[in-house]
Amino acid sequence: MYCVNCGVELADSETVCPLCGTRVFHPDLSRPQADAPYPPDHHVKPEDVSRSGILFVMTMLALLPAVICLLCDWRINGGIVWSGFAAGAIGLLYVLIVLPMWFKRPNPVIFVPVDFAAIGLYLLYIDLAVKGGWFLSFAFPVTAAIGLLLTAVVALVRYVRGGYLYIFGGALILAGGLAVLIEFLINVTFGIHKALLWSIYPLAAGVILGGMLLVIAICKPLRKSLHRKFFF
Ligand SMILES: [Zn+2]
Repeated sequence: MYCVNCGVELADSETVCPLCGTRVFHPDLSRPQADAPYPPDHHVKPEDVSRSGILFVMTMLALLPAVICLLCDWRINGGIVWSGFAAGAIGLLYVLIVLPMWFKRPNPVIFVPVDFAAIGLYLLYIDLAVKGGWFLSFAFPVTAAIGLLLTAVVALVRYVRGGYLYIFGGALILAGGLAVLIEFLINVTFGIHKALLWSIYPLAAGVILGGMLLVIAICKPLRKSLHRKFFF
């Protein structure tokens, strides 16, 4: 029997093509359960070893400067004055970049909210350290809103087959609305202006672009003619 996709000859025990991964299927033949022609592979793959090695080195590279900063600060100032910012930034970078590498196939639906939670925690620390008073009224709602929007987009793209035009169109419109929210919160928190000045432009751009995507998604003939012209 041969692979329907790539034509390689298959052993009777094969259920998927070893070369291209296509499922072995013949509608008329019931395939006998033969023994595999080779023993199962229990070897440790070299890429797994080098992966954990790289992760160890990167963890040490993050941990070392963070600890050194904290110790220096403690010795010089008798407490945590500036080192909290440095250690926090290193920790934040670690969560954003290295933490997903711990997993073979990191799920963005989990890591996007985790990243935004880490960013929010770091901002909370800065706010408390400098007694800014802007976390609850500005940093938290902005971080949460962007995090929620991105998480929703990532989750929809991952778990809903198709419908990308609706997803990205809706996301663009919401992102425009987010700009208005951000300017409103800036005005409330820092008292710069009373009216909305700049956020109208990103809102207009988001609504126009998102609306275009939605129109393309809804109007089937338009979508087909665009598909023929631009191959998307
Ligand atoms: Zn094949």
